[in-house]
Order: sequence, then C-alpha cells, then structure tokens
Amino acid sequence: MEKKRILTGDRPTGPLHLGHYVGTLKARLELQEQGNEVFILVADYHTLTRGISAEKTKEIKINTRELLLDYLAVGLDPKKITIYRQSDVPAVAELALLFGMLVTVPRLSRVPTLKEVMRDEKIENPSFGLLGYPVLQSADIALVKGELVPVGKDQSSHLEVAREIIHRFNSEFGEVFPEPEALIKGDVLPGTDGKAKMSKSLGNAIMLSDDEKTVKEKVMGMYTDPTRVHSTDPGHVEGNPVFAYLDAFGQDQTKVSEFKDRYQKGTVGDVELKEYLASVLNEFLAPIRTRRQEFSKAADLDKILEEGKNKVLPIAAETLKQARRAIGIE
Ligand code: ATP
Ligand code: MG
Repeated sequence: MEKKRILTGDRPTGPLHLGHYVGTLKARLELQEQGNEVFILVADYHTLTRGISAEKTKEIKINTRELLLDYLAVGLDPKKITIYRQSDVPAVAELALLFGMLVTVPRLSRVPTLKEVMRDEKIENPSFGLLGYPVLQSADIALVKGELVPVGKDQSSHLEVAREIIHRFNSEFGEVFPEPEALIKGDVLPGTDGKAKMSKSLGNAIMLSDDEKTVKEKVMGMYTDPTRVHSTDPGHVEGNPVFAYLDAFGQDQTKVSEFKDRYQKGTVGDVELKEYLASVLNEFLAPIRTRRQEFSKAADLDKILEEGKNKVLPIAAETLKQARRAIGIE
C-alpha cells in the first residue's frame, strides 16, 4: 500500500474499551506498522460541544491522561506516529470558521449522529458548537491534509460532510486540500448486555484498563442466548455477544469452533463457556495492563503532547496560509 497521511482521534471522555479496540485501535496499529504518516488527535474542543464548563475542562485533563495511557498500552507509539491535542493547535478554529461558510444549517441538521446525540442527551435545541461538530472535524482533517480517515461505521456521515466542504473549497478556490477518504475497518462490537454496540455510556463495556477480576465478573454476567433455558438446550451462536467476543479475541479459533459446535448441540453450559471467554479476554488484556502500568509510572505524557504540538503547529500554519491565500485573505 502506498503510504498515506492519516488523521484519526478520540474525544477524551473516559477510558477506552474492547469496542474501541475492534473498531479503531486495531486498524490504527496496522496503519502505524505499515509506516503511514498517522496523526492521532485528542479532540478536547469536540468534547466541549456537549456543554462547556470549568468542571468539564478539569475532567478533560484527567481523561486525556487515561486516553494517552490506553494508546501507549495497546502499542501506539509516539516515536512512529504523532499524537496531539486539538486545543494545542488553535489554527483549527480559524479553518473551521472558514469551512462554516461552505455548508448550510439544514445540511448539518440532517447529520444522523446529531439527531442521536440530541435524543440521547435530551437536547431540544443544539448549540451552534454542537451543530458545527462535523465542521470542526472537517477542519481537523484538512489542517493536516489528511487523506485517509479511519472511522467507525457510525461516524461515516461526518466524513461525508468533510468531503463536501473540502470539495466545495477546492472547486471555488483551487486545490488546497486532498479529498479525504473513509477507511471503514473492523466490526461493531456488541455490549455485554447484548445491545448492538458496546459503549461506556450504556454501561455495557469492558475497559482495556479493567483488572482481571472485573473482566471475569462482567463476563460471568453477560447476556447470552435468551431462548436457551438449560445447558442441554441447543443454543444460538448468531447474535450471541459471547461468540462475537470469541471471534474477535480468541487466539485459538479451532477451540472457538468447538465451543460453537457444542453450544449449538447443547453440550456446553454457560458457565464453562463464559469461564473460557474470561480467560481469553484476560490473556488478551494482560500485556496491555502491564504496559499501562509501566507507562503510568515512566511515560512523560506531557512530553508526548508537547512533541505532537511541535510537529503539527508548522503543518497547520502552512495549511492555513495556503487556505487564506486561496480565498484572498492575506
Ligand atoms: P462510548 O460510545 O463508549 O461512550 P465514545 O462515545 O467516546 O465511547 P464513540 O465516539 O462512540 O466513542 O467512538 C469512537 C470510535 O470508536 C468510533 O470510530 C467508533 O466507531 C469506535 N467504536 C466505539 N464503540 C465501538 C464498538 N462497540 N464497536 C466498534 N467500534 C466502536
Ligand atoms: Mg459514543
């Protein structure tokens, strides 16, 4: 694969979970190892779109630290990629201001994730900032001239907005930005409660930072197949989150197939199956936990952000200069 410039990121809202691993972290690690130019953004401005307060900014600081530790623990390596904080590169705000002129309010109002957030958080009227979430995201991507954007399926509508804005900019003012492409990889991991998506806000997540005992407890309480009353009843593998996790994290897929077979025949009980899953997940998480511990003692997280900032600031300044010149603001 030709080497690409990649922009991806997370809002610092709390610890990452297995769903994040399957949906994005795994792909990021691959992109990193392939030697692409990967930028990972800690999107603190985006976090404020749900409400701005001193309490929130304090929380963001704590969550940023946890997020960075999660990155390091899974193997994202600041020596190979660039990790930076959105608010350290304020040029993004100016680019977002300019981009805001290239998209209509009804277009932004139709973005499905906005509707979901408004419904889930009971927001009747979105703030200008919340409505502008995808505009800011477009500016994030364009500022570093991102070509590929790994996103979960649920985020692809934002990338559509970014493509439209950038396309519009380029056709009006000349080619300044590459039109970013979505890289949709990985499945959506269901929650421990059987709901379609593992999500920390739904309380159905297994965190990358959970200890062994917590993982075991969460797994033993997992939703399986509600139609199966006795362990001798034939069970369903499809739509059963236990098997979704085994598919995603099982090192020994022959053994996973055996379990599937026995489950469908009704020759394995939930307890044995879940104990196996707990051991599989704990085996997967053990090295992540160890690295997290080491990094929490030894890693200079401020330095990682400082280096990221120093790397991105000149890129951002150059992009913004080109954008201003193209529009005729100089
Ligand atoms: P949560 O939804 O747990 O509160 P969040 O809101 O911080 O976390 P999202 O914005 O939902 O995270 O997702 C961040 C990225 O991780 C997105 O690219 C999304 O597709 C991916 N992701 C999150 N949860 C899952 C999941 N259960 N399965 C696969 N990918 C996921
Ligand atoms: Mg979410």
